[in-house]
Amino acid sequence: MASSSSDPEGRPAKRTKLDYLEDITVLVGPDEKRYVVHKNLVCDNSSFFRAACNGDWKETKEKVVRLPEVDPDIFANYLGWIYTGELDVRDASSVASAPKYHDNMPVKEQTVLEIRTVDTYAFGDMVQDVRFCNTVVDELKRLVEDTKSIPAMSSVEHLYERVHRKSGFMRLWVDYYAFDHKPDQFAREEAGLPASFVFDIAHACIKRQGTPLASQKPFNRPKCFYHKHIDDSDKCV
Ligand SMILES: [Zn+2]
Repeated sequence: MASSSSDPEGRPAKRTKLDYLEDITVLVGPDEKRYVVHKNLVCDNSSFFRAACNGDWKETKEKVVRLPEVDPDIFANYLGWIYTGELDVRDASSVASAPKYHDNMPVKEQTVLEIRTVDTYAFGDMVQDVRFCNTVVDELKRLVEDTKSIPAMSSVEHLYERVHRKSGFMRLWVDYYAFDHKPDQFAREEAGLPASFVFDIAHACIKRQGTPLASQKPFNRPKCFYHKHIDDSDKCV
């Protein structure tokens, strides 16, 4: 029987030969929507599920994991990615269930998608699935490049509430504002941007000293620049 790989340093698990003999139940959201998934598959991807499936507590014995704070549609997208390798935040069901208001104000469709991307990344971070987080980074780049529009200010506020400041996902957003934004538009947004975001933009600009602007733009960065990888052998290409 193949086993899921584990690493005390939290390295992303290498894919191993899997069996599909054992499953677990995941109850998602406040209404406990029920998903039955192959144990080895989720444990192979996620440090969180590895710990939940191998601990010495009641939930482990019952083979039930509860995620009351997670949106079931985001979890369903995660399962889709685990089983098929495909993720699309523009999936119709995903967008339909996304919040349409921010601070009681309606938000544009692209902003809905950006917020959805933030929540999807935050979920990947919570379940400690590094490969999934890298996929969400790529998804944001695809969204921005397709629409030719950097993330909106209201998405930035949402981002700073949910995502770790040192993550590659956060650095990507900072670089869009630092190196791909229009100065006059940025000036108009001054009042609405989180102070820590403005600081991070200033820091990115200072670090850029002496390097060509084009080389700093996210579009021109290598694929893995905003990814998390332990070493070269773990890189995407
Ligand atoms: Zn990579």
